[in-house]
Amino acid sequence: MSHEAETVHRSSSCPPSQVPASSASPLPVSLPWIERLVSIDTTSRLPNIGLIETVRDALAALGIASTLTRDERGEWANLFATIPAHDGATHGGVVLSGHTDVVPVDGQQWDSDPFKPELRDGRLYGRGTCDMKGFIGAALSLVPDMQAAKLAKPIHLALSFDEEIGCAGAPLMIADLQKRGVKPEGCIVGEPTSMRPIVAHKGINVYRCCVRGHAAHSSLTPQGLNAIEYAARLICHIRDMADALRRDGPFDECFDVPFTTAQTSTIEGGNAINTVPAECRFAFEFRNLPTLDAADIFERIERYAHDTLLPQMRHEHPNAAIEFTRIASAPGLDAAEQAAITELVRALSSDHATRKVAYGTEAGLFARAGVPSVVCGPGDIQQAHRANEYVELSQLSACEAFLHKFIRSMSVDAQR
Ligand SMILES: [Zn+2]
Repeated sequence: MSHEAETVHRSSSCPPSQVPASSASPLPVSLPWIERLVSIDTTSRLPNIGLIETVRDALAALGIASTLTRDERGEWANLFATIPAHDGATHGGVVLSGHTDVVPVDGQQWDSDPFKPELRDGRLYGRGTCDMKGFIGAALSLVPDMQAAKLAKPIHLALSFDEEIGCAGAPLMIADLQKRGVKPEGCIVGEPTSMRPIVAHKGINVYRCCVRGHAAHSSLTPQGLNAIEYAARLICHIRDMADALRRDGPFDECFDVPFTTAQTSTIEGGNAINTVPAECRFAFEFRNLPTLDAADIFERIERYAHDTLLPQMRHEHPNAAIEFTRIASAPGLDAAEQAAITELVRALSSDHATRKVAYGTEAGLFARAGVPSVVCGPGDIQQAHRANEYVELSQLSACEAFLHKFIRSMSVDAQR
């Protein structure tokens, strides 16, 4: 997911707190698993089935069955697996969730092979080390500990595909859970947060718009319909909406960008300097505060296009059309302060600040499906998506310590 606005806003109502202490202790036990995962190139455009089958086989060797869900292409899959409670129960419990895909390295200057993980200066370098194979590797390496722990409630592992292109894979897995009646009580999404719990993030909504006019010789403009000019009016309308949201709110000062944002990102149209352009295509997005209804914002844009612009366009030429296609969307997250998973993750990380971020994750999807969710994982979001992506080994150790405490908290003894 896009990580362009990354700093955690701090104000008197959103107090900062301590970063988990780093340790100069031995190498993290999860390194072999993480290196194995990073070595498999799972850039979103490539199939992730190789990684998924590697994990499935490793879990099978421990006696754990996995459920795979795929889209129509067949080569991309989610994996869901359950480490049952000591009495065999597989319902309830907590999900550890991560996406297996990574962003491309195209055009980036790396000092080492992004898919040959390298240890340097107390860091592990490689694509996905931070976002987010570090967390997945840590969770996988502790599966034997989960099995040995006499769990009171099950722990689930949820690995998705195509998160980086708009959370496209996870909905299939979540739909399958609902179909099978698997109802976890909470979910920890291990995106890089420097092991601080994130309780809210914005929603992501990306659309393509195609404005159709009618071509004519540019000396005969009354015979044509200029698609670029009407696209420009729609783009200005989106900007006006963004300005109003920025000026009038609603606001949530715990976010790094404390209001809903919108922008146009790409545009193309026309085919010659002496022709009235028949078509203009552009893409726009808005990132809504989780308390704002994304459908409502889109409806306002669509209504302006269809009720105001289109009648004007049809007046000029009957071929007029404005079409919208949704190309990515993921709901925002707004975890309840008093939810058990919020309290658990805050207690385990010793971080009780209210932290909210602008970037999106799969936590919003789980939450919308009725599974209360919090984001917390190793690594600094600033390192994600860049050349020379890395995760600090101290972050991996902190994650392992967190997961050990988590496993203990799920055990019979802790729940007594
Ligand atoms: Zn990510």
